[in-house]
Amino acid sequence: MSLVPTIGLEVHCQLATKTKMFCGCPVALDAAPNASVCPVCLGHPGALPVVNERAVALGVRAGLALGCTVHEESIFARKHYFYPDLPKGYQISQFDRPLCTQGSIHVEIDGDRQRFGIHRIHLEEDAGKMRHTDAGSRVDWNRGGTPLIEIVGEPDLHSPEQAGAWLRMLHRVVVQAGVTSGDMQKGHFRCDANVSVARPGAPLGTRVELKNINSFRFVERALHTEIARQKKIIEGGGRVIQATRTWVGEKTVLLRSKEEAADYRYFPDPDIPVLKVRPEERSAQAAQLEAAPLDLHLLDSDGAQLAGFLERYGLREADGAALLCAPDLQACFEQAVSLGGAPVPMANWVRGPVSAVLNATDSTLSQSQLSPAHLVSLESLIDAGQINRGTARTLLQQVMQTGADPAKLVEDQGLAQVGDSNEIGAQVDAVLAAHPDEVARFKSGETKLKGYLLGQVMRAFQGRANPGEVKAQLEARLSGE
Ligand code: ZN
Ligand code: MN
Repeated sequence: MSLVPTIGLEVHCQLATKTKMFCGCPVALDAAPNASVCPVCLGHPGALPVVNERAVALGVRAGLALGCTVHEESIFARKHYFYPDLPKGYQISQFDRPLCTQGSIHVEIDGDRQRFGIHRIHLEEDAGKMRHTDAGSRVDWNRGGTPLIEIVGEPDLHSPEQAGAWLRMLHRVVVQAGVTSGDMQKGHFRCDANVSVARPGAPLGTRVELKNINSFRFVERALHTEIARQKKIIEGGGRVIQATRTWVGEKTVLLRSKEEAADYRYFPDPDIPVLKVRPEERSAQAAQLEAAPLDLHLLDSDGAQLAGFLERYGLREADGAALLCAPDLQACFEQAVSLGGAPVPMANWVRGPVSAVLNATDSTLSQSQLSPAHLVSLESLIDAGQINRGTARTLLQQVMQTGADPAKLVEDQGLAQVGDSNEIGAQVDAVLAAHPDEVARFKSGETKLKGYLLGQVMRAFQGRANPGEVKAQLEARLSGE
């Protein structure tokens, strides 16, 4: 008799907010360690949490996108456990009264559209982060209190491939809805998988939870490995032990034996009133979704899709995979290429400077004024030697804000690149004459001062000089004198 796997996935999504779930601290995960913290997110006694309205709005939007019942009243609860990155000794989450319940997701697998259930979506805060170094273990609480939704799927998946397709579709839905950036490398979309095996028709087997798998491919591989491990145990007459395991390279290893809900001693957080979602707040989020309709048919069988995409555009795998995970960026990239942009520089623009501006302004591509033609135009201004790359990046911010034509901005603001070698030579001479100490130190071996001198020349041109020409002339002067 064959054994059938049953899989349920849980996903933690970092919500696209500027500030934390219960305090005004900026979500600044890249800041210096423990720079973005306050008495609330550090859990100091007497500090009172205040619910972030935008996080609630995004949670509501996720619920609507997944066809859930969004509850007019839900309750925040304390989930107790001890860990160094959790200073309060509990996480504020939701327990028996979550924000959303009973939704669904439609996934196309081998041309066949299948429906899977979404059990619940609840709001919660993230924990901090441990950093294990040679010098010992450190804790950084910047991430502590970051707004999350936890999306819990019904255990109605029966193969690793179904699980992979489910997860990719969920990712598309929440990213397209503008709920999260979905950046998996940064941990903005993290998956836990519960898996058990049993004979058909028999009650479900003992489940094992696989923690924090942060790539689509790893989810499938980890599940294949874990299912094979459980089958081998059962076929050998043994019993699977309920536990939490993690995926390391090619195998799953034991983290801890599994806690039950009772171990967490949940109770309603006495510091936070009942969370109410008014009908007008709900319809505002529904309207946001209509503005960005979900295309549930975008999904192909993914591996083939990625391979075809990489081949079509000659991109590196990391760039291709990242674009496919962000449908708005992918569309912008593809349109730029169809307008004549070369694929690699267009991918670099979208993945690099464009994403950086969106992250810094906590906004989405559709909220900016950028069109694919702007990127083609910026790159051709660089190719034609009219501006350097630094100027182009500065211009990008203006273009994204105003939608102005880059060529016109160059003209209006006098940003054209200075490439004239006499003009550059004269400025190099002036900078060297003004910095005799630095020149002397350079000559006695402090070679890094060349970068400083180069910076001074570029500054004199307000960044508009041709950097190659400046570097060549500077090097000639420094080695010649
Ligand atoms: Zn704080
Ligand atoms: Mn959670």
